[in-house]
Amino acid sequence: MTRQDTFKHKGLRERLVAQMRKKGITDEAVLRAMGEVQRHWFLDSALDALAYEDRALKIGCEQTISHPSTVAMQSQLLNVTPGMKVLEIGTGSGYQTAILCRMGAKVFTVERQKGLFDKTRPLLAALGYRARCFLGDGYQGLQEVNYGPYDRIIVTCGAREIPDALMSQLKTGGIMVIPLGEEEQEMLRITKNGDRREDWQIEKFGAYSFVPMLDGRNMG
Ligand code: SAH
Repeated sequence: MTRQDTFKHKGLRERLVAQMRKKGITDEAVLRAMGEVQRHWFLDSALDALAYEDRALKIGCEQTISHPSTVAMQSQLLNVTPGMKVLEIGTGSGYQTAILCRMGAKVFTVERQKGLFDKTRPLLAALGYRARCFLGDGYQGLQEVNYGPYDRIIVTCGAREIPDALMSQLKTGGIMVIPLGEEEQEMLRITKNGDRREDWQIEKFGAYSFVPMLDGRNMG
């Protein structure tokens, strides 16, 4: 890795954090993490100049890194405190994973595309983020290795329904943030006050556009 964290990168990150404040992000832990995590490492070097714009960008395998404002909003809705066990579905570039690690969470993250998994796992390790990365279908959560239940679950791809397996791996009292819908998604925050659906408190936070959550693994 030859790229550095230059004064320019630092300045652009400060500007990005200020932009996030203007957009209504108030959780200081989220803002601090965004000021620290070097988003340019999570992108192809050709995209270096765009790394601190509030844009989604291509990361290969027909996937995208989420807008910084989307990462900020999901992280804020998740209401994470240090030490919490967080399950993330859709590792992608690893940027959201790194933000959660910086916030002190113990992160377990699942990606279905082998190409991204193979790239992102070593990157996170090289940058010192101690997330546990898994290749698998996030609709199933992390069933084969039982690290759950989780305090928080974050889904970073558009799901057509609320995955039962994920809800069952969430602690009682836990929170899941998930964009729900096929073409366009509505951001939901679900607080699991009990096992029955009637006990779930569902709050809505507006429209977003995510790549779809797909079934199965893609080993290609
Ligand atoms: N948080 C990531 C978002 C990447 S886009 C980032 O900011 O970089 C969403 C990711 O979800 C893609 O990498 C896609 O391959 C992955 N994905 C889609 N369906 C999935 C599933 N069922 N299980 C796990 N990952 C999935």
